[in-house]
Amino acid sequence: MKKLRLIVPMAALLAATGLAAQVLPVPAPPPPAGSVVILTGNALDGHGGSLRNARIGVTGGRITTLNAAPGGTVIDLRQFTVLPGWIDTHVHLDSHFDRNGRIATETEPPLEAAMGIAGAAWDTLMGGFTTVQSVGDPSEKPLRDAIRDRGFPGPRVLTSLAWIEGDSKTPREELIAAVRSRKAQGADLIKIFASSSQRVGATPTFTEEQLRILCDEAKAVGLRSMVHAYRSQVSAAARAGCREIEHATYATQADIDTAVAAGAFISPQVGLVVQNYLANKARYLGVGNYTEAGMATMDHDLHLDFEVCTMAVHTPNSKVVFSTDATAGAHGRNAEEFLGRVQHCAQSPMAALVSANAVAAEAIGMAGTLGKLAPGYEADIIALDGDPLKDLTAVRRVVFVMRGGVVYKWAGAAPVKR
Ligand SMILES: [Zn+2]
Repeated sequence: MKKLRLIVPMAALLAATGLAAQVLPVPAPPPPAGSVVILTGNALDGHGGSLRNARIGVTGGRITTLNAAPGGTVIDLRQFTVLPGWIDTHVHLDSHFDRNGRIATETEPPLEAAMGIAGAAWDTLMGGFTTVQSVGDPSEKPLRDAIRDRGFPGPRVLTSLAWIEGDSKTPREELIAAVRSRKAQGADLIKIFASSSQRVGATPTFTEEQLRILCDEAKAVGLRSMVHAYRSQVSAAARAGCREIEHATYATQADIDTAVAAGAFISPQVGLVVQNYLANKARYLGVGNYTEAGMATMDHDLHLDFEVCTMAVHTPNSKVVFSTDATAGAHGRNAEEFLGRVQHCAQSPMAALVSANAVAAEAIGMAGTLGKLAPGYEADIIALDGDPLKDLTAVRRVVFVMRGGVVYKWAGAAPVKR
C-alpha cells in the first residue's frame, strides 16, 4: 500500500506537467448519440438577426436544422433567450489565484497550477463562453488538447502559447525562428508584444519592419497574428499586415483609421480587466510588474480605453472584436465586457453581442463553423434568463450551455459531464 500511495501522485504529477514519458493515444469521445431538439421562443442568430420559435435540431454535435420535427430528446428553452455560444478572443486561462488567494507564480506546485487553469476553463464555460483564445502561456496547450481530445470540460481553446517579445535590435533570423518554433510547438496563432506593458510605460518594442517580418512569417506558416499594441504601434502593426490588434490604448483616430483601412480586427477592453485588477489589487501587488504605480496608471488611464473603444466602434467599417484579457479573478465574468461596451463605448447591445459571435468567429478564422445558429454550424448554444436587447444584465444570467452538442449547464442544475 505504501508503494502504491507513492506511485499514484507521481503519475498524476507527470500527467499534470506534461512530462509523461510514453504517450498512448486515447480516442476522442464521440459526440452524443441520438438527436436533440431545442425549443426556442426568442433567439438571436449571432449575425444581428432574430429568430422566432425556432426548433433547433442537433445531431452529432452540429446544428442540423432550425425547424426540427418532434422526436428525440427535447430541451425546452422557450422562456429564455437563446444565442450562439460566445467567443472571447483574448483571455489568460493560466492566470489564477493560488491557495493563499494571491496571483500564482512559477513556484506553485504543478498539480495546483493544473487545477487553477482547469478551474478557469470551467468558470469561463459556465459564463457562456464556448470558445476562447488563450494567449500567453505554454500550459494552455495541454488544456486545449484535453478539452479537444479527451472530453475534459471547458471552452474550445485556441492558444498562442508563449508570446513573442524582443526589442528593435532583435535580428530578423531570431524573429523568424520564434514564429517557426511556435508553429512547431503547436500554436494556433502568434501573439506579439509590440509595446511594453501599460504598467511600465507602454513604449514601443519592435519596429514596424520587425512587425512585418513576424506577421509575414506567421502567414507563411499558416497562422494568424495578434499584436499587443499601444499608441502609434497600432497603425504600425496594421501597416505591417498583422491581423488582430489588442488594447490600442493611447491610439489616435488616425491610428484607428489605418487599422480599419488595413482590415485588421481591433480588440479594446473596457468592462472587465482593469476593473478586476483594481478590485483584486492586493492579490496581484508584488508580483512582476504589478506595482502600485502600474495599478495607478491603469486606473488613471481607464477613461482613455473608453475613448479609444468609442472611436473604434464608431469608425465606419471597423471590425471591433470581443475580448476581455481576463486574468485571475475575472474568469467566468467575461460577459461584463458587453456591459462595458454599451456603457463606455456607446455601442448598441446587438453590435456588442455580435462582436462575440459573428465578428469573433471571423477573427479566429472559424466563420463557417462558429458564431451562428444555422444548419452546419457547431452546436455551441447558450441561453440567458432575460432578453439582453431589453436588459443587457441578462448576459450575467447564463442558464444553459451546450458546446459541440454536449450540455454542460442547464438552469443551474448540476452540470452534466460526459
Ligand atoms: Zn493579455
